[in-house]
Amino acid sequence: MIRFISTLLALTLPLCFAATHSLIAQPATGLSTDDEQAGDLWNFEDNDPWGFEEDEEDIETWETLLQDQAPDLLLFAGFASLTMVSFLRKSVWLKYLTLVIAVAYMGFQKSQLISVTNIYSLLTGNMPVFRYSMAWYLFFVFTVVTTVFWGRLYCGRVCAFGALTQLMDRILPARLRLEIPPWLEERAASIKYGLLVVTLLYFLVTADIPAYRYVEPFWMFTMRGSTAMWTGLAVLLISTVFVRNLYCRFLCPVGATLGLLSKLTIFRIKRWSECSTCKLCEKTCEWGAIRGPEIIMTECVRCDDCERLYADTTRCPHWLILARQKLSQARSALISNPATIGDTSEAEH
Ligand code: SF4
Ligand code: SF4
Repeated sequence: MIRFISTLLALTLPLCFAATHSLIAQPATGLSTDDEQAGDLWNFEDNDPWGFEEDEEDIETWETLLQDQAPDLLLFAGFASLTMVSFLRKSVWLKYLTLVIAVAYMGFQKSQLISVTNIYSLLTGNMPVFRYSMAWYLFFVFTVVTTVFWGRLYCGRVCAFGALTQLMDRILPARLRLEIPPWLEERAASIKYGLLVVTLLYFLVTADIPAYRYVEPFWMFTMRGSTAMWTGLAVLLISTVFVRNLYCRFLCPVGATLGLLSKLTIFRIKRWSECSTCKLCEKTCEWGAIRGPEIIMTECVRCDDCERLYADTTRCPHWLILARQKLSQARSALISNPATIGDTSEAEH
């Protein structure tokens, strides 16, 4: 009996080991070829068939990965902090500093922008592997969270292309600009939603990813493009001289996606009751995002211009009316009780 059991074990155990090994050696569901190449974490062809050293190896791997990605994580955290400080303080010069860094760092140095390909990844569940892309996930979460909290803050100061066109707008002479009438602005703004739908449908039908480069100009920061792409970009940038932020306002599928997400925005821009008749902010908004008293959150990029006006006691009619009311109240008080004039002058002496 004992001999039978030993023979059975001798025959079955190697088979069990082989089966277990083959199961373990399979990449886990969802892992990409990158995982296999870069991590090789599932390779048990060593002296540790039981995987006893797995934990130690994992800890070491995570430490190494964190060390490797620490500069990226810290630099993005620094940039994100500057973005938030410039936004929350409503500081003009900090905003332009953020835009310059967005072009230089997020654009030319990192070439890291939210792209329509990230929407493809979300749709197909083929997201980057977290352990190799921690800085990217920080960037992605920052974009989504700030959009839900405040709206298209990403477009207003993080996206390198949007930052570039805003800087162009600041530098180029205002007399070159064509003002788009509100009725046209409203219709043209919907083009980007159409482009988003067409781009997604095209991808779902053809699974062709590289075609996105003809819809987004973000490749320009890598300085690699075909003649057709460079020609298209030149036309786009020349048109932007005359119609400010042309791509962001009318064409960008990512802007459209974030615009849709902005419908959930929690902290919206405040308005006075006077806003229903005053047109000052509407004229100030470079994004066509103010229509009468209403802020169109899908189009607003939280540039701060109207919020600074809102708080400006020397320009916003709300404060001017309030100051006039206070003055007339003080005058009426003086007229109804002239004795207070003498009291006041005595008190002054
Ligand atoms: S609209 Fe598009 S290009 Fe413009 S800032 Fe937003 S993401 Fe960038
Ligand atoms: S001016 Fe106001 S409404 Fe227009 S984009 Fe800037 S923050 Fe948004």
